[in-house]
Amino acid sequence: MAIAAETQTTEKVASEVTAVDKSRWTLNDFDIGKPLGRGKFGHVYLAREKRSNHIVALKVLFKSQLKQSQVEHQLCREVEIQSHLRHPNILRLYGYFYDQKRVYLILEYAAKGELYKELQKCKYFSERRTATYVVSLARALIYCHGKHVIHRDIKPENLLVGAQGELKIADFGWSVHTFNRRQTMCGTLDYLPPEMVESVEHDTNVDIWSLGVLCYEFLYGVPPFEAKEHSDTYKRILQVDLKFPPKPIVSSAAKDLISQMLVKDSSQRLPLHKLLEHPWIVQNADPSGLYRG
Ligand code: AMP
Repeated sequence: MAIAAETQTTEKVASEVTAVDKSRWTLNDFDIGKPLGRGKFGHVYLAREKRSNHIVALKVLFKSQLKQSQVEHQLCREVEIQSHLRHPNILRLYGYFYDQKRVYLILEYAAKGELYKELQKCKYFSERRTATYVVSLARALIYCHGKHVIHRDIKPENLLVGAQGELKIADFGWSVHTFNRRQTMCGTLDYLPPEMVESVEHDTNVDIWSLGVLCYEFLYGVPPFEAKEHSDTYKRILQVDLKFPPKPIVSSAAKDLISQMLVKDSSQRLPLHKLLEHPWIVQNADPSGLYRG
């Protein structure tokens, strides 16, 4: 059946969906609507929770595929972390349930879909739009880091856009809850900082690097260390081989911010609270964090 998406605030939906005090959800609690997309391990559908009438996104994952790829632990970690985070720029995970074959995640619905597609369509974003997105992400990461959560996989494919144009970090598959410094190699190569490429210890500062890479990609349409061969991307990251092409034209203030984030020594990267005070951010970002086009 078709479901019309209505505009609703995240918190209202959250309180109403979770107010339906269900220790065990089942598929019968939802009307299933149109498919929203397809991921590696299953499909995502628009759905309506029958009692509260609220619209959510239902992610359906096949247990067999999760097992085959040995990602059950990663999924458990993702669910555990994401379900405890409450921030306007982090996609809510309201709950989950499972049957014999599938695992279902009840997610906040991001009406405007993937940011990645929008970037492909536009090729690159304006400085105002980029700065607004960078502020939203910095705020979300400050919140995560305050809870000792490192995202470790910030990239356009993991960002969704809500009905008002607000960015939502959506995928916590590579995130960790940690009080210690970590040594695991994870994430997607292009966004990895030198310390993760080299598999040495890393901490919350990895997310500052990835945000710098993302800021560059928003402004130029390609990530800064892109190369034909993986091995060359490795080398470019390790050397911090950062070049700013002449086109599109980008202000020197924006380049200054990126240069302060893409610093090899992780302790020397611009802290996120300082990023919020950077002149380029102050001049360009919409403080509401909403990009309305
Ligand atoms: P994923 O398995 O998370 O990669 O999701 C597959 C696709 O479904 C994504 O690329 C989006 O287009 C769509 N999608 C996933 N989650 C949501 C959501 N919460 N709201 C809207 N669309 C979503």
